[in-house]
Amino acid sequence: MCSPVVPDSADSPILVFLEPLGQDIHPASRNAINTALGLAGDTKRELCGVLLTAAFGAGQSAVLERSGLTAVYVFVNSLLGNFVLEEHLEVLLAFVKEKKPGVILFGATPESRALAPALAARLKTGVTADCTKVAFREDGLLLQTRPAFGGDVTAEIITPWARPQIATLRGLAPELPRRGPAGSKIIVNSAKIVNPRAQKAEWLDRVTEAAENAASNVLAIGGGVRRQEDVEIFRRLAGRLKAELMCSRALVERGWFTRQSQIGLSGRGVRAEALLAMGVSGSVQFMAGVMSGRICAVNLDKDAPIMLKADVPIAGDLYAVADALLRCV
Ligand SMILES: Cc1cc2nc3c(=O)[nH]c(=O)nc-3n(C[C@H](O)[C@H](O)[C@H](O)COP(=O)(O)OP(=O)(O)OC[C@H]3O[C@@H](n4cnc5c(N)ncnc54)[C@H](O)[C@@H]3O)c2cc1C
Repeated sequence: MCSPVVPDSADSPILVFLEPLGQDIHPASRNAINTALGLAGDTKRELCGVLLTAAFGAGQSAVLERSGLTAVYVFVNSLLGNFVLEEHLEVLLAFVKEKKPGVILFGATPESRALAPALAARLKTGVTADCTKVAFREDGLLLQTRPAFGGDVTAEIITPWARPQIATLRGLAPELPRRGPAGSKIIVNSAKIVNPRAQKAEWLDRVTEAAENAASNVLAIGGGVRRQEDVEIFRRLAGRLKAELMCSRALVERGWFTRQSQIGLSGRGVRAEALLAMGVSGSVQFMAGVMSGRICAVNLDKDAPIMLKADVPIAGDLYAVADALLRCV
């Protein structure tokens, strides 16, 4: 057993990795803050956040001041505007080595899913991806719960020796972020990047912009669609809604779509502003790919799992709803 790069004690800080989203904080980071607040509970651990950004604005500052975190460390460098793993890793790694957190929580965004394991590898520790729950055990170890084997079992994972204990968290906050009085200390530093690679990746600007625009709304269809020729109806609807048409695995298995269009555990994750799911049951594996802001679901079965998770559940026939929408949008 080798000694950990970052040692831990019962009062080592809990660190939340925060991602900017325009002038706001990404919903997955808000979820991580909420989870960390619950986790810190009665412990003596300091609860802090770290934000890497190209520009730190008043909007983000206002959100973070009321986040409930004790302190938020902001590192600013123009190279941090687009996500390039090497630069983010360099800045985060230096901070973690100095701050020595016992636990680090990330939202399960595509960027954090790349960054968390890269950080873990450099710190010679583990990472539990896509946790649905984290809690301290009585012995102080972090119990990290996540679906395994395609969601058939729930695995409880601990990191007994290596430190810090790192987890990415799936799903959005079950409640609105707790907003306290403006109490969080915001410490802004300029970030030193010794080995910049971003200049080599100027094309990232365009790709990221295109990807974000494309995924701002998603229409997902599933097993409820009866015939392949009906997909055209939903393609038209997606066009009217300015949404990307995606699907559940049921339709990939029927050969109607390629895996590129599949949402979920064995498909793609979607970080859409709004997701309209029609004729999708909302299996654990499908939901594993959903990181959207708002979900509207149309399903004949009012008790289908997705209906219980949707902000707007519509119990009804997807063809009737599609027809009505096509008449008015
Ligand atoms: C290892 C593993 C990985 C997997 N990965 C994924 C993955 O990445 N993504 C994924 O999607 N699945 C994945 N699956 C499969 C997953 O378990 C489900 O089988 C799949 O999600 C089902 O798709 P569905 O909900 O669209 O279809 P169904 O289960 O067939 O559900 C259809 C839904 O449509 C509703 N419906 C039917 N007719 C209508 C109508 N006329 N109007 C309105 N509603 C209607 C039904 O009530 C039902 O809820 C995986 C499975 C395993 C084992």
